[in-house]
Amino acid sequence: MLYSGLLIALLAMGPVTTGSSYSECYENTFCVEVEDTGNSVEIYVRSMVDWEVTLSLDMQTANMRPDVALPLIQSVAGKQRSHAVTLKVRDIGRSWSFRYDLSWVPGDHKAQHNEGTAYELPFEKGESYMVGQGFHGQETHEGKYAIDFQLPEGTPVHAARGGMVIETVERFEEGRLDPALKSRANFVKILHEDGTVGYYVHFRFQGVEVEAGERVQAGELIGYSGNTGYSSGPHLHFEVFAATEDLSLRTFPVQFRTAERGLTHVTSGLFYTR
Ligand SMILES: [Zn+2]
Repeated sequence: MLYSGLLIALLAMGPVTTGSSYSECYENTFCVEVEDTGNSVEIYVRSMVDWEVTLSLDMQTANMRPDVALPLIQSVAGKQRSHAVTLKVRDIGRSWSFRYDLSWVPGDHKAQHNEGTAYELPFEKGESYMVGQGFHGQETHEGKYAIDFQLPEGTPVHAARGGMVIETVERFEEGRLDPALKSRANFVKILHEDGTVGYYVHFRFQGVEVEAGERVQAGELIGYSGNTGYSSGPHLHFEVFAATEDLSLRTFPVQFRTAERGLTHVTSGLFYTR
């Protein structure tokens, strides 16, 4: 499964006029704002979204000295502007330049997941479905705490945990076990209050019923299962992830509230009732 939250932006800049400012925005998520004070350049980041995002800012400079260790890894709260770096000009009489690389993932890189959190099974109350692939399954879950619930196409999908919807995709129509389709699955991402993200994948075409920015409760309908993207048959892939210090992602071994076994990790080959 590919994560679509990671984006790279590049910019090369020459010297700007003293007292001038400059700003550039990316993917409707972040703006980088640059202020030239004469003997230094101040770099700010401004979030355009309502939720917390962790960014990585790396820079290459000529005749400038950054005041922080790079790359800078920083969590920025929703709709906040925050100072990132001061670039001090070493030799005022000479020209200077810098460029930066910016990437980000949703949530907080310092997020701590409480393993005891009770998740709801992601389907209708009273229903019972089998787990196909479980944690670290050898088909496509190696190294990941991910779960495939064997939901037939069109099965209502319900939020396993409450939070804020931060990204949805429902435009894709095809699905099969073809690596070319890894980035062509429909999905929903929900940011939880602890900074982790619930990731629900393979919704059917136009099968997402929530929008980014919307708050949902555990158990609420979020869409309809399907078979889009890199998928061997209809199912719902679910995992909970958070950013790491180096902006890759780690997943967590979540537990579900089940009718037959109480609070439990779910296992491949078994049915579970919500
Ligand atoms: Zn899966």
